[in-house]
Amino acid sequence: MTSLELAERYSRQVLFAGIGAEGQRKLAAACVAIVGCGATGSALASLLARAGVGTLRIIDRDYVEPSNLQRQSLFDEADAAESLPKAIAAARKIAAFNSHIVAEPHVADATPENIEGLLQGAQLILDGTDNFETRYLINDFAVENSLPWIYTAAVASYAATLNILPGKTACLACIFPDPPSGMVETCETSGILNSAVNLAASIAATEALKLLVGAEDQVRRSLLSFDLWRNERAEISAAEPGAGCRACGEHDFIHLAGEGRPHITLCGRNSVQIHERHRPVNLAEMSDRLKPHGAVRHNDFVLKFLREPYEMTLFPDGRAIIKGTTDTAIARSLYARYVGS
Ligand SMILES: [Zn+2]
Repeated sequence: MTSLELAERYSRQVLFAGIGAEGQRKLAAACVAIVGCGATGSALASLLARAGVGTLRIIDRDYVEPSNLQRQSLFDEADAAESLPKAIAAARKIAAFNSHIVAEPHVADATPENIEGLLQGAQLILDGTDNFETRYLINDFAVENSLPWIYTAAVASYAATLNILPGKTACLACIFPDPPSGMVETCETSGILNSAVNLAASIAATEALKLLVGAEDQVRRSLLSFDLWRNERAEISAAEPGAGCRACGEHDFIHLAGEGRPHITLCGRNSVQIHERHRPVNLAEMSDRLKPHGAVRHNDFVLKFLREPYEMTLFPDGRAIIKGTTDTAIARSLYARYVGS
């Protein structure tokens, strides 16, 4: 594509006074990491890829399923049929509508051990996760490295987002010193409207554009939330870092230190993730080994092994998601029996 064609591609965005030709050049040179590429992550990646952000690093641990298609806008039925990892499917979809940017897929669960490698070189981090454990980890990393990040959440008809500029505004731990306790709503228990996802992602993507073009004075300094069904809107100031905050005040990065973090975690929808064996797995060899024990299929990115009532999805890095149980002991024993400990 010639520079004239590229100019034409982004012409309507360049015309917008807040972006301009200089802003568009900054977007092209930018590197943004999106942690989690489900519903909000898909919408964020899609908007920023179309806007011409030069490098998008897409990090996701999961694979596409039919129940994702209602709201996860980068995926289609073929991706679900193949159980493609979301990061791979997202990068392919982005390449089809904008081949002039780089979408780097990383099929991985962000952990204290690997987060530095995953986020290195990114100038902005966007939250597309669905859990506070990973968000606190992002917050610790971002505060320690003075990198801006944007929290985004959507569940049921509720959407929320917060911009975190370390040292300048409140961080996630200032506002939520502890994870929400008790019965926490999730997409699995309370459902989700795709419009709530897109609202949260649209606001966060706009804030990301402001940060990337250097319009920091326009960046919102509050936790903003909406309930689209009840027509409610709320805003809590985040203009100042909280006094005595563990993360941004005392620089006590307990989540980055990984204290007490298990290698086996529940990950929604009646499933357990295991990542204890940090050794790569050859999926073709594993497929041959598992054939006598149940239905098995694999591609370059993922292996599926069905042994009623459980379904194990195995990734090349040795990580597995075991569906059909929330009992970590059952999941661990299945993994040990069929993959090896
Ligand atoms: Zn803080």
